[in-house]
Amino acid sequence: MIISIASGKGGTGKTLIATSLALSLKGKSAVQLLDCDVEEPNDHIFLKPSLTHSESVFIPIPKVDRSKCTYYGKCAEVCAYNAIAVIKENVLVFPELCHGCGACSYLCPEGAISEENKEVGVVEMGDSEGIDFVHGKLNVGEVMAPPIIRKVKEYVKPEATVIVDVSPGTSCPVVEAIKDSDFCLLVTEPTPFGLNDLVLAVEVTRELNIPCGVVLNRAGVGDGKVDEYCRSENIPILLTIPLDTDIASLYSRGIPLVEGIPEWREHFIELFDKIKELADESSS
Ligand code: SF4
Repeated sequence: MIISIASGKGGTGKTLIATSLALSLKGKSAVQLLDCDVEEPNDHIFLKPSLTHSESVFIPIPKVDRSKCTYYGKCAEVCAYNAIAVIKENVLVFPELCHGCGACSYLCPEGAISEENKEVGVVEMGDSEGIDFVHGKLNVGEVMAPPIIRKVKEYVKPEATVIVDVSPGTSCPVVEAIKDSDFCLLVTEPTPFGLNDLVLAVEVTRELNIPCGVVLNRAGVGDGKVDEYCRSENIPILLTIPLDTDIASLYSRGIPLVEGIPEWREHFIELFDKIKELADESSS
């Protein structure tokens, strides 16, 4: 079973939920945590895994053979990302815009374009006291997160309960990370900002046909609009975590909630049971 942990808005507590859920399930079943927030992965700060392997991630970018190029311009015409331009008798490649789709080299009528690999990030794997751990890291200055997310997800263990920590927002990296999930948990806070971004995140899960539920973090601030929205849209609120200085203090020191306050472990096991029930209902 694959459970993705997403949130339209950054800073809502995704990491807290992902790490505490993984720690609560440890010992009950095989657990795997994939940190797909590759621009700023931080689950390792809480789980302190020993990382034993790493693998570079590359994308193929075009390399133009000037001796064959006739400046016909097909490459620039087919590139959806404006990553290659033909200007008079010159071809310019912009590697930072290239998505490595291969269309330009495939369609060049002169066979003048080959491909060369460019490293965009790295995937590291290891173990955190029984939790199988994988995370991806985008190189500084790179923007192409999806290839790294795809590489992280190649390590999914089908026999395990897989928890995928997703980056904030609703763009390509989020879609790449949550697709194929059996359930998507949306972490939000009861503020107008939390609600605004929750609505967008719900739209993404509906578009992908993935059942979802909400974790309401820092309950006690803001207003009741998130509750109202969830009721009106028939989205279950599966766990509520209050605004609490003890919880905030644990978080600021990199201590997982269920280790700092072990009573929360039971709440996370109940959360998992509810997720499983809803995912089963949705698939039947
Ligand atoms: S590989 Fe794709 S994205 Fe990159 S320059 Fe060629 S057509 Fe554009």
